Amino acid sequence: MNTPLYLADPHRDAVPHTYVVQVSSFNCLNCKASHSSCEVFARTWLRGQWGKPFSNLRPMGTARPQYNLPIEVIHRQPHIVPFCHECPSPLDVVKNLPYPPVESKTNIGAGFKEAAKVPSAERQKKPRATTTDDLMKDLDI
Ligand SMILES: [Zn+2]
Repeated sequence: MNTPLYLADPHRDAVPHTYVVQVSSFNCLNCKASHSSCEVFARTWLRGQWGKPFSNLRPMGTARPQYNLPIEVIHRQPHIVPFCHECPSPLDVVKNLPYPPVESKTNIGAGFKEAAKVPSAERQKKPRATTTDDLMKDLDI
């Protein structure tokens, strides 16, 4: 059984056509710093069902390149974040904001659901034992 291509090792089952470096950048609104990170993929072009090619990107993870292939560098649109890990004092962002309402501190699903109120007479009423004869009487027209 073959592993689906998107889960497979980046060099297994299909030889990649290129390596792709996706660069993501983040601009912090608080400290105005810019950060970037990158992720490396192996790109394989595949023929679609109707003949139109599509590419499959498999994350390289810690795998090392195995072929001398072109390397594409793609700069993604920068993300804007309200604060970041390099902010000198990220708590300054929230220190002048109000505390959340008390009700919001309740964990969803942690409360007790009130037991359904069932009248005691109805609760004690036992179901009537149904016999084949009773069923036949019900069907008798
Ligand atoms: Zn920051």
